[in-house]
Amino acid sequence: MKKIRIKTFVLLSVSMLIAVSLLIVVCISGFIFKRNLITGVKEDTLARLTDVKSFLENEGVDAIQSDLSMQYRVNDDAEYLRGRVMVINGSYQILTDTSDKAEGSYIISDNVIKVMKGEARSIQYDTDTETVYIYPVRAGSNVGGAILYRASLLPANEHVNSMFRMILVVALIVFLIDAIIVIAISRRSVKDINDINEKIMHTALGNLTERLPENEGFIEIQVLAENYNEVLEKLATIDQTRSEFVSNVSHELKTPITSMKVLAESLTQNENATAEDYKEFMTDIVDEIDRETKIINDLLTLVRTDSNSNEMNMEETDVVEMMETIIKTVKPLANQREIDLSFESYREVKADVDVVKLSLAISNLIENAVKYNVDNGWIKCSLNADHKYFYIKVADSGVGIPEDAKDRVFERFYRVDKARSRDTGGTGLGLSITRSIINAHKGTIKLYSESGKGTTFSVRIPLKKS
Ligand code: ADP
Repeated sequence: MKKIRIKTFVLLSVSMLIAVSLLIVVCISGFIFKRNLITGVKEDTLARLTDVKSFLENEGVDAIQSDLSMQYRVNDDAEYLRGRVMVINGSYQILTDTSDKAEGSYIISDNVIKVMKGEARSIQYDTDTETVYIYPVRAGSNVGGAILYRASLLPANEHVNSMFRMILVVALIVFLIDAIIVIAISRRSVKDINDINEKIMHTALGNLTERLPENEGFIEIQVLAENYNEVLEKLATIDQTRSEFVSNVSHELKTPITSMKVLAESLTQNENATAEDYKEFMTDIVDEIDRETKIINDLLTLVRTDSNSNEMNMEETDVVEMMETIIKTVKPLANQREIDLSFESYREVKADVDVVKLSLAISNLIENAVKYNVDNGWIKCSLNADHKYFYIKVADSGVGIPEDAKDRVFERFYRVDKARSRDTGGTGLGLSITRSIINAHKGTIKLYSESGKGTTFSVRIPLKKS
């Protein structure tokens, strides 16, 4: 649609509607008025003609010349009808002509001949300016003459025209009044939109705390304000999460650097430091560098899976084989603490997955099951599938996750026990990465845990990409 203001659109369309409606009303009423008026003239003409005709049929057509009162009567009729009356005898001679032009002469009009010969019972026709009636005057069973009435339609037409002009003026006044009302209505209709627009512009300048009033104006505007406020609420949450993330990242990256600085300073400030001390401190510094590198790598992985799920390299994969490879990699870690790591698969599972990313997600779960387990504990991994999804479970006999932390363990940098996580080389990003990868596979992850008894993570992923 072409760029146009709602106000202009409402104004133009409603005005057009009113104009067309008024025009139709004016035309129809004008037409009906004209028809009624002309019908009135015709009925009047016919009534007058019938009276005279009855008289002539009773008294004979020639009586018109001898009866003065009848002569007055026809003259009166002609004057009243602004027309002309003629009485013709059986020999086509005009006995009376109210216009005085043709009295005594003979008429040879086709229509009069038809009526006289009985070819037509009567003749009636209209021209633009008059209506004409020709009737036979009967003498017994024969036609003894004819009577012709012409009535002018000009007075009726003039009356119609002046009436039409008057209706048109009234319609124009109605239209102007309507137009003023429509302007007021269209202004009122867009006022709320303009107000809301102004407030949105204010928010766009950076004020995310301001909310639109939800109980003002039309219902649609109220719904718009509610929805807009909801979007603002979400934006504010995103904004807050982002700043929390940035501050967490800075903090996490600063910790190893601070440790390295402390280690290096204590070496430089100790003048008696031996080569042995140097070796020990340098080893700690290398550990901190490794830690820093791990945090950066985990962050990069997270950003990549978070921001672009299009980067997924989905291909048909043997999930049983994938699980076995992961188990093989984590097994030495579990063996160190005499943890029994087992894997059971109930059927062959082929699915469209990004094998590298999904392996990382599942490895995180199994490595966590080792990290947060007790010595001599167990880890049971299983794989199953139905016609739509495959299911991976990782259950352990570890420390478990407290009730209040269950919702938070998937948050970035969240750790239940900071010290333990740090000791085991955790960054607090593992489960965020896992959830992000599973989301990119359009899957879900759930967790069941009892503090002190163990934890089970269950993952469900569609077999087919679509
Ligand atoms: P981390 O690098 O600290 O392991 P994760 O994001 O992988 O970070 O896990 C977040 C937190 O969730 C962990 O610090 C830990 O407290 C808790 N957690 C994760 N997996 C388990 C588990 N299997 N058993 C108990 N606690 C767990």
